[in-house]
Amino acid sequence: MRALVWHGRHDMRVDTVPDPVRINPRDAIIKITSTAICGSDLHIYNGLIPSMKSGDILGHEFMGEVVDVDASNTKLKVGDRVVVPFVIACGQCFFCEHDFFSACDNSNPAENMEISDTAYGRPAAGLFGYSHMTGGYAGGQAEYARVPFSDVGPIKVPEGVPDDQVLFLSDILPTGWMAAENCNIQPGDTVAVWAAARLGFLQSRARLSWGPSR
Ligand SMILES: [Zn+2]
Ligand SMILES: [Zn+2]
Repeated sequence: MRALVWHGRHDMRVDTVPDPVRINPRDAIIKITSTAICGSDLHIYNGLIPSMKSGDILGHEFMGEVVDVDASNTKLKVGDRVVVPFVIACGQCFFCEHDFFSACDNSNPAENMEISDTAYGRPAAGLFGYSHMTGGYAGGQAEYARVPFSDVGPIKVPEGVPDDQVLFLSDILPTGWMAAENCNIQPGDTVAVWAAARLGFLQSRARLSWGPSR
C-alpha cells in the first residue's frame, strides 16, 4: 500500500510499504476513506517529538471501511464504516473501566510509557501514528491501518452520513470541545483562543453549538 512515512525532520515521503495484517484476535483492518492532518503532526514534521523512527507511518485522524476482522469481534463486521479515535484503549483495565481511555494500561508497552511519562509528566496510552513513546503504532495517513482493540474505540457511522461530517470525531472535534468545556465559559464572557486553524474553530463552535457549560 501507499502511506505517508516519516524519515526525519522535514523529510516525509509517500512510500510503498507492506499492507497491515491482523496480529491479535481483537484487531481490525480498515481501508481508509478519509484522513486528516493534525496540528500535532507539525510537531513530528519539525522534529520536536522524541522516539520517532525512520519508516514510521503518520496519521491519527482517520476513518474507513472494515475489510478484515475476526468473527468473534463483538462490535465490528466486514463492511462497517467507522471513525477511529486516535487513542488506543483496551476497554478492560482500571482506567478504561473508568472512561480514562487515554491512560489505558494495556495499549502501550511499559518501556514506552516511561518515555511519555518523562516527556509529558504522565504515562500515555497507545496512539496511532505518533512516535514510539505512544506505542509505535502505524497511523492512518495510508491506504490501510491495523486497529488494535477494535471492539472498543471505533465509532460506527450510520448509513448516508458522509465522511466529512464525522471524520473530525477522530480527534480534533472532541479536543476542541474538551478545551471549551474545561474553560467553563459562561454567557457574556470574553475569551481568547490560543489554537491554530481547526482546533480553535471547533473549540469556538463547541461553545456556540452546545451552549454554556454546566
Ligand atoms: Zn490530532
Ligand atoms: Zn485499558
